[in-house]
Amino acid sequence: MKVLLVYAHPEPKSLNGSLKDFAVKRLQGAGHVVQVSDLYAMQWKASLDAHDSIERQASERFYPSRESKHAFENGLQSADIVREQEKLMWADAVILQFPLWWFSMPAILKGWVERVYAYGLAYGVGEHSDARWGERYGEGKFAGKRAMLVVTTGGWESHYSARGINGPMDDVLFPIQHGVLYYPGFDVLPPFVVYRTSRIDEANYAAVRDALGKRLDDLWTTQPIPFRQQNGGAYAIPELTLRDDLAPERVGFAAHVE
Ligand SMILES: Cc1cc2nc3c(=O)[nH]c(=O)nc-3n(C[C@H](O)[C@H](O)[C@H](O)COP(=O)(O)OP(=O)(O)OC[C@H]3O[C@@H](n4cnc5c(N)ncnc54)[C@H](O)[C@@H]3O)c2cc1C
Repeated sequence: MKVLLVYAHPEPKSLNGSLKDFAVKRLQGAGHVVQVSDLYAMQWKASLDAHDSIERQASERFYPSRESKHAFENGLQSADIVREQEKLMWADAVILQFPLWWFSMPAILKGWVERVYAYGLAYGVGEHSDARWGERYGEGKFAGKRAMLVVTTGGWESHYSARGINGPMDDVLFPIQHGVLYYPGFDVLPPFVVYRTSRIDEANYAAVRDALGKRLDDLWTTQPIPFRQQNGGAYAIPELTLRDDLAPERVGFAAHVE
């Protein structure tokens, strides 16, 4: 299988750096082909702007999605974006690995998503009608591919528990797992989270590494998070609200998991 690991940490000797090196070796040892997008090492340009197209449409102002669509459809995207899109289309599985910074991914990785996820590739895909609202949330160009987050946090596991002060980890990661990954079609596996990283020493590093190794061994067999399909009848179209008879007691993020 082919695995793309998109990695965002500025320090190779960090915990994340060690886990990334371990993950690559483990996957390769199992016979998989791995490509790594090491965003800091690549000096990835994080900000989406008019320079993302090699030939801008003539207009007075810059319209990000319109420009993205035009560049994607006409082969006018900048080379760094095209390279990452090719890796995405090549991969059977994509791993995003990062330290949790301010309850989300580091800006450089967010910028990778913003720039690589072009209109026509990750959004703006498919027809809109009374029965379908584009190909997204369960459909899309990345359908059939798996994705998983590998995340480290300073906070303790209890801080991210159901009644923890930071909010449940499933909620914190929902915009990434449901929005960034499920939206364009990935099957999203439960995340691998390392909590309370300041307490990591040689002994518990070995345990973390072994647990990650097991998750990588199971990458092809782990059941994805059962997010609800948008066009499968669970949602009213075009309102895109969940049918009243489905999980009527649930609201918020949890309502979108079967
Ligand atoms: C801007 C910013 C925002 C943040 N926001 C949040 C937030 O919203 N929520 C939150 O919970 N946390 C937050 N944090 C904390 C952050 O998530 C952690 O600092 C990060 O996850 C730690 O990962 P690291 O790779 O940088 O670890 P490192 O600091 O590199 O390492 C952590 C520990 O692991 C040890 N270690 C590293 N490699 C090995 C190895 N090979 N063998 C044995 N031990 C090893 C180190 O000695 C160290 O003790 C934030 C931090 C920053 C800088």
